[in-house]
Order: sequence, then structure tokens, then C-alpha cells
Amino acid sequence: MLIDPERCICCGECVALCPMNAIRLRPKDAASGRDAHAAIDRDECVECGVCFRSGVCPEAAIQEESLSWPRILRKAFSDPVFTHPGTDIPGRGTEEMKTNDVTGRFRAGMIGIGLEFGRPGVGTRLREAEAAIRRLLPLGVALEPNNPLTQLIADPATGALKPEVREEKVLSAIVEAIVPEEAFERVLAEVRAIAAAADTVISLGVIGKVAADGRVPAAEAMRRAGISPSLNGKVNVGLGRPAYRF
Ligand code: SF4
Ligand code: SF4
Repeated sequence: MLIDPERCICCGECVALCPMNAIRLRPKDAASGRDAHAAIDRDECVECGVCFRSGVCPEAAIQEESLSWPRILRKAFSDPVFTHPGTDIPGRGTEEMKTNDVTGRFRAGMIGIGLEFGRPGVGTRLREAEAAIRRLLPLGVALEPNNPLTQLIADPATGALKPEVREEKVLSAIVEAIVPEEAFERVLAEVRAIAAAADTVISLGVIGKVAADGRVPAAEAMRRAGISPSLNGKVNVGLGRPAYRF
């Protein structure tokens, strides 16, 4: 995203809209004679498009630019109206396990996790998520293939991302994976260690099936690990056809 300094009248209306605090007002520069204007810190801007879509600028000074690789990733991970070209999913490229009962991704004996790095106002560099992937893979997790982060992995054995994408900043990035039930407590311990080392905020979402006897194995494992889960149910009442066969 760019601000045309020749159009900008430095009214400041766009500043508060930026979820990354990336828009700064610059005073008149006596040396160059340039008037006061707003400018975008390109290293902090995640290309979410909020400032542009809001239409707040009275001078049409906020302008979208044509983004090239790897900067285009910022938009793919941060702009909710952009359809991710790799997963063909709008809203930042992942369904975050919401379609489980249709796709059959998490079956009995498996637990799904969604480990989100960053939030509006904080963001994350993709290297933070890479560090987590590197630590989780040895525990036997299987990464979701239709996920924007998984598609950036250069080395499936280690989880190393393509080097040129590591420093890209995005609103948030979600590591999605399936964990065998027996490995779940070790994964929880590793997530604690990952959170302690991370330079951003982290949220953990967990999905698991209810056992035939009514137990929720994922919730039991979390309580043993000293975590109080907030349980939410989602029931497939059979109105949609599953997109898989056992
Ligand atoms: S595109 Fe988003 S992050 Fe970039 S300046 Fe605009 S509001 Fe801020
Ligand atoms: S809203 Fe437009 S004119 Fe006002 S500070 Fe932002 S870019 Fe400049």
C-alpha cells in the first residue's frame, strides 16, 4: 500500500484505521520543501487493505500497488477479501478445521490443532511459525496440506520455509496439523515452549471427536496438562454429504 505525498493533505484520518500502526504523519520538511504528509512504514504494513477499502481518504491519496513475490504473501495472509491462490480459500487462506465433518480430516484417534501466530495490532513474521513447525514435526504431527503455511515449506523433513519468505510480516499465520492422540500431551508441552520463545501472541485451537462413551479425549489431555479448555460443540446433523469415504 502506498500514500501519494502529493495528494495527501495530512488530515490524519487514516492513521487510527491501520491495525498495524504502520501509518505515520511526517511534518513539513524545510530542506526539501515537501509539505506535511502521511507515509506508510512498508516493513510494518501487512497489506491488509483496510486503509484503502475504508474510503476514508478525502484526497484518494491511499493507493493499492501491484505486489510481487514474496511481498504478495502479506496480502494473502492478511487481507480478508483476497482469495489465496494456493488454497483457493478466501479470508486469509484457511478454513481452520471448520469443515472437519465434511472433509473427514480428523477421525477417531486423531486431534487437530490450529496454532495461530499474531493478531491485529501485533502481527507476526513468518519465521515465528516456521520455528513452531520445526519443533512440532519431530513429534509426529501431520501438517494440513491445504494450508498457506504448509505450501511455503521448502524442506518437508525439517519444516524449513523458503528462505525469501521468512521475514515477511503478516496479520497472522496459522499452523494446522493433525496429532495422534497419544502424542497430544507432548505437543501441548512443546506449544508452551514455543509460546515462551515467540516474539508475538499465540492462540491454540484444538478439535477432537467425542468418544462413543461421551468422553472428550482432547479435553482430558488438556486438563492433565494444566490447561482449562473452553469447550464448544459442533454437531453435523447429516444435512450435508461428506466429501470422503472410509
Ligand atoms: S494496508 Fe493495512 S497494514 Fe498497510 S497501511 Fe493500510 S491498514 Fe495499515
Ligand atoms: S486520509 Fe488521506 S489525506 Fe488524510 S492523512 Fe491519510 S492519506 Fe493523507
